[in-house]
Amino acid sequence: MVNENEEIKISQSELPRIVVVGGGFGGLRFLKKIDTNQYQVVLLDRYNYHTFQPLLYQVATAGLEPDSIAGPLRKSFQNKKNFYFRMATVSCINSDKQEVETNIGRIKYDQLVLACGSLTNFFGNDEFEEKSFPLKQVPHALNLRSQILQNFEKAVLKTDENEMQRLMNYVIVGGGPTGVEVAGALGELKKHVLPKDFPELNLNKMQIYLIEGQERLLGAMSEFSGNKAFEYLKKFDVNIYVGKIVKSFDGETVTLNDGMQIPTETLVWAAGVKGNAISGLTLDITPDNRFKVDDYCQVVDYENVYAIGDVASMFSEGYPKGHPMLAPVAIQQGELLASNLNSLKKNKPWKSFSYQDKGTMATIGRNKAVTELLGKFKFGGFMAWLTWMFVHLILIVEFRSKIVIFGNWLWNYFTYDRGTRLIIRPFVKNKAGKKPKKESQEEVLVA
Ligand SMILES: Cc1cc2nc3c(=O)[nH]c(=O)nc-3n(C[C@H](O)[C@H](O)[C@H](O)COP(=O)(O)OP(=O)(O)OC[C@H]3O[C@@H](n4cnc5c(N)ncnc54)[C@H](O)[C@@H]3O)c2cc1C
Repeated sequence: MVNENEEIKISQSELPRIVVVGGGFGGLRFLKKIDTNQYQVVLLDRYNYHTFQPLLYQVATAGLEPDSIAGPLRKSFQNKKNFYFRMATVSCINSDKQEVETNIGRIKYDQLVLACGSLTNFFGNDEFEEKSFPLKQVPHALNLRSQILQNFEKAVLKTDENEMQRLMNYVIVGGGPTGVEVAGALGELKKHVLPKDFPELNLNKMQIYLIEGQERLLGAMSEFSGNKAFEYLKKFDVNIYVGKIVKSFDGETVTLNDGMQIPTETLVWAAGVKGNAISGLTLDITPDNRFKVDDYCQVVDYENVYAIGDVASMFSEGYPKGHPMLAPVAIQQGELLASNLNSLKKNKPWKSFSYQDKGTMATIGRNKAVTELLGKFKFGGFMAWLTWMFVHLILIVEFRSKIVIFGNWLWNYFTYDRGTRLIIRPFVKNKAGKKPKKESQEEVLVA
């Protein structure tokens, strides 16, 4: 039995200890760069793998297997001395005692790096949290994949047209990159893959709805990209509603603010994220639940506590509301913080953070994407799609995963097929139409 009040067993060391919470984009880059001759480093993560979130939607839509977008954390640092990993969910920070509390015990730190990312933002609506499908972690993607495939297995058995239609309707909330990518991938499944698997079903009946509260898609990108995404999704017959808000979902029907109703079993929640500010520090967190940090990623008022990536909010002239929650921000902050901590003993001056924005992109099915580079170059179509593929392959952490993903993409491209349409872990709702156990944002329980 694990005793939560005991100290987690780690070898004693003369070196000061850095505890890092979160092996995501920011945490990983920090760990690659930090000098473990100077520090003992302990990484805590609730999972024993890193998740490459930009490709979660491909797992959810049967394009990739989950292990190709998840990198084992222990393996990533096998050769790093003075490095320890513990699979643990951090629940609280006790800065007076310089320790964090976890589900497997307490651990003391000399320096604490919070790289615990973000949570899906349901804007306080329990109904959406319990009944919709978020897309933030690998188990979420597996739930959605099972749900989609199970819906079609059920639809072939139905004689009632309305029931069949409900199973074949998909509603996605949020027209940002994730919503657009999910809609495009579902469009591709409808056009190229499912008709071969389910010849008894009329796949023209499958309806994909994308609902966005703002007046256009991809609000964080240019109007050019938003319009292109709209045009590409229309080619997949996606029903796009902008300027509309999803008001309720009872597990069977989605209702919009103008009264429109869509019968569906599947509401995909891609409407936003908020920071994952772990409790314990006595400071004001931002409205989007992030820790305020200074230009060096130091949490305001806490000398030896730092935050990087999605959970950090650094206000600057160019970013008055903090930086966007994107992988490159987390990576660049992780790199800078490690290099500053490395120079601590050498008495070198610390460098302040300045975000190098190389661009943003989103893909919409085969051959189609929108890309904006260096704030100047905006393009869509095949070249944008190739750029999207290239950039994602570079960013993937594991070499093996790069090969597997590239192989899968080639296979899917040339065969118009997907190799991963397996219901390995069935998704089961309870009678109230809810997920089996309330999936806390901290820890997703396997369905
Ligand atoms: C579906 C989706 C698509 C995206 N697409 C893109 C994209 O195309 N391009 C882009 O730049 N960005 C994209 N993003 C955003 C990007 O993934 C994040 O900005 C990035 O992951 C932030 O890195 P991070 O290190 O701050 O946090 P994360 O990468 O989220 O890592 C946080 C880590 O902390 C761990 N953790 C959390 N809470 C605890 C706890 N209490 N105890 C222990 N461990 C904990 C988690 O398990 C995780 O490993 C996407 C995000 C999503 C959800």
